[in-house]
Formats: sequence, structure tokens, C-alpha cells
Amino acid sequence: MIYTDQKLRIYNSVSNEKQTFTPIQQGHVGMYVCGPTVYSKVHLGNVRTFMSFDMIYRYLLHLGYKVRYVRNITDVGHLVDDADQGEDKIGKRARLERLEPMEIVQRYTVDFHDILNQFNLLPPSIEPTATGHIIEQIQLIQKVIDNGYGYQSNGSVYFDVTKYNQDYDYSELSHRKLEDMISNSRKLDGQSDKRGEQDFAMWKRAEPDHLMRWPSPWGDGFPGWHTECITMSTKYLGEKFDLHGGGMDLKFPHHECEIAQGKACTAHAPVNYWLHANLLTLNGKKMAKSTGNNILPGEILAGTNPLLSKAYSASVTRFLMMQTHYRSIMDFSDQAMLAAEKGYHRLMSSVQDLQNINPGTLSTLDIPAWREDCYRAMDDDFNTPILISHLFEGVNFINMLKDKSAWLTSADLNHFSRTMSVLIYDVLGLGKSSAVSSTHKDKLEGTINLLIEMRNAARDDKNYLLSDQIREGLTALDILLEDTKDGTRFKY
Ligand code: AMP
Ligand code: ZN
Repeated sequence: MIYTDQKLRIYNSVSNEKQTFTPIQQGHVGMYVCGPTVYSKVHLGNVRTFMSFDMIYRYLLHLGYKVRYVRNITDVGHLVDDADQGEDKIGKRARLERLEPMEIVQRYTVDFHDILNQFNLLPPSIEPTATGHIIEQIQLIQKVIDNGYGYQSNGSVYFDVTKYNQDYDYSELSHRKLEDMISNSRKLDGQSDKRGEQDFAMWKRAEPDHLMRWPSPWGDGFPGWHTECITMSTKYLGEKFDLHGGGMDLKFPHHECEIAQGKACTAHAPVNYWLHANLLTLNGKKMAKSTGNNILPGEILAGTNPLLSKAYSASVTRFLMMQTHYRSIMDFSDQAMLAAEKGYHRLMSSVQDLQNINPGTLSTLDIPAWREDCYRAMDDDFNTPILISHLFEGVNFINMLKDKSAWLTSADLNHFSRTMSVLIYDVLGLGKSSAVSSTHKDKLEGTINLLIEMRNAARDDKNYLLSDQIREGLTALDILLEDTKDGTRFKY
């Protein structure tokens, strides 16, 4: 069921404004998120970005969309300087540790999955690797060359940004003008294989000592980082898909280059909505693997980082992250964690208390209006901090119900309790999941079908009081009955 029919608005980095979300195929969403480069342990900044998209994925699922969520593993092609120069990050690590590159990849892919699992992130629908898609990348590069936007030079293949910018706009995402980039960049020194400094490598020639290499029409080499994501996203989601996300630092050049290659192949934009999650900072500076200015998720759980006064749970960390909007910069500190821990426990113990509240004969709190506020927050570009403030209004409601200064009918109480737990567990991904296991699901569906039969029998007996009571009771649990010519169906 789509709870908030066409009310979801998403901030699109291309237009720099919030737009009503309209999927390409009704009821379906194709979403691609750039995954990690698996050459070292993920730090908390990486986790924040993946968690932001996990929350977005969860909300889309909750709205009833069938989501195909693709998040890749970068296991080749990401060079040390993030552009066309330097060693491959994985190859470098393998050389330093005297290991096979694939041993590095395996070790840190396992670590990545383990950490994301601990922080309660749902696995994507497909997790393709760059090395598993070399043939597809070669095919895409060939298409770019055939369409006149790529050229071969000395065993490497480059994307011709100048030519592309004559036909399209190389600044549509980053909003940086090519002329400014050219005047600010250093001039080619005559040694480079490129025609223009802004051109980027789709395929790089492998030097004799380069570890990760594959044969190609242009000789032995390896694919460029910007080519893998556009290849794998369009392979699994189609030449045009709904959402593409990543950290803010990937906007340029990585995502601008993805758009350029997509358009060079198909003459249309590959993605409808570009989403960028903002950075996690530490001491006011970006958390990064390379600078050492970072905290590892494992250090949070064990309390072993000197910046921490104690250990914190993954749920408390997740709660802290959800208190900041995904597009805002967030600075990490022990103080913020201590405050988040207090808030988290207040929320969770209040939700526990809700189980022991008895219904009244009338409602003195406006639950539908409160629920509407919660959904309005999420529909406004996934505004989790505002949602959390409404959840704390819910905590105030629970306190009033406990001291009997407010009352809710059984239907409203069920509705309230169900909404609190769905938003906390399923959408924000805090604590345990309220998702039902498949055996429980069968039992639940059997029970609903039994109630539908009882309702039909009541209607046949013209006992409308009972039939309405069954329908309204189910509605309060977010189970909607739909009477069709083929019988009664239900939706969550
Ligand atoms: P990488 O493994 O370096 O390719 O990064 C994986 C993801 O983490 C990308 O989407 C990056 O944009 C994101 N990322 C890197 N550093 C940070 C940070 N300090 N805060 C939030 N996200 C980050
Ligand atoms: Zn990517």
C-alpha cells in the first residue's frame, strides 16, 4: 500500500530543489547507491552514508514500493587520488601486505557486511562487484567510443569531455562550469595520454607490474572507477532508473562522469533523482580513511577510541545519526553520543510502557493528526529529525496515558502503538526489527483471511455492526480491506 499517495518529495541534486517523487514504473523503484572501496575497514563516516540510504530504502519499502536496491562493491579501479593518477587503492594495499588483491577484497567485504549487519542495515537486492562486470564495462566503453565521445590513447581509453560538453552539459550535477575547471587546472605537460585535462579514464593501460589486469580490445588494463557504477546500475536497473545516491564527495567527478557516460551511450539522462548524503565530521574535519581522522564502528561498540568516555550500542549510534537530516553535515562527539543514549532509552522504555496502557471509552488525543505529522516529516525529503521530534510527542502522549490525564479508545491505542513501532523499528531501523518471520506471516495472513470470512458471514446476516467492527479493527492495525468483484482482498 502507498501510504501517502504521491506526497513524497525528494531533494534532487540536479535541480537543487525538492521534487515530488514519481517513479518510472508505478509502484516500483530502482535505486543505486555507490558502495565501498574495499581496501580497508569502513569508518563511521562511510557507515553514516550507507545508513542514510538504508533509511531511504526502508521508507520506500514501508510506503509499499517494490524496490530493487543495487549497491556495488568497488574492488578495482579506484585510484589513490580519486581521479586518473596514482596506484589502485586495493592493488597498493595488496602490495604493502604482500597479499593477493582478492584477499584484500575478501577481508574488507566481509568486514563491511559484518559492520552493516551490526548497525541493522538491510542488505541490498543486488550487490555487484566491479571485477565481476569487466565484460560489460568493456562493452559500455566501446559504445562511448562508437558514439564519438571516447578515444583510445596509448592503451588507455578516455572520455572526451570537451566534445561531450559541446552536445550536453558537463556541469548538470556539480554546477561547475567546464571553462572554470580548465582555467583552474594545471596544463597537460605533454606526457599525458589525454587530449584534455578534464578527460577521464574509462580504461587504463596496465603497466607491467600492475596486479589487477584484464585483456581488452585496447590491450591489458583495468576499468576506471567512474565506469563501473554506470555499467552496473544500468545493467540491473535499466538505461533510465529512479534514484542514484552516494556521499556528497562523490558528486564530482564520480557522479558527473556517470551521467556523461550514460548520456554518451543513450542520449538521455540515466537517472531521474540524484541524492547526496552529507559528511560525518570529527573535530570539524571530514572523517576519512586516508587522513586518519576517523573513528571505526568497532571502536564505538567496544569504547576503545580515546575520544570516547565509554562504549555505545549500535542502536544508540544509529539513533544519533537519525537525529540529523541526511543532507546536513554532522559532527561526531562523545557528548552527542551521551545525549543520544539518554534520548534513545527514554524513547524505547516509553514504547515498552505503551504495552501496559488500558484503552478508554473515548480518545482525548488526536492520533490521526499526530500520525499525519510523522508521515509529513518523512515525505518531506526523509526528514528523520522532525520525525523523531514527533516520536517524542508520542512519548509525552504515553506519559499522559500512564498518569491517566489522557485516554485512547482501543482502536486509537492500537493505531498509535502500531505507528510508533513501525516508524521506530521498520523505518528508522532502531532496535529489533518488527518484521514478521515467514511462519508468523503465514499465521497472520491465515488469521486475516478468517476475519474476512467472518465479516462476509456477518454481512450476509445483515449484522453490519459486527462487519464494520471487523473492518475498522483491521484498519486500525493498518490492514485495509478492499471489496472487489472477485471477493475481499487485504493490503498492509
Ligand atoms: P569509499 O569507500 O571511500 O568509496 O566511500 C564509501 C562511501 O562513504 C561513499 O559514498 C563516500 O561518499 C562515503 N563517505 C566517505 N567519507 C565520508 C564521511 N566522512 N562522511 C560520510 N560519508 C562518507
Ligand atoms: Zn559509484
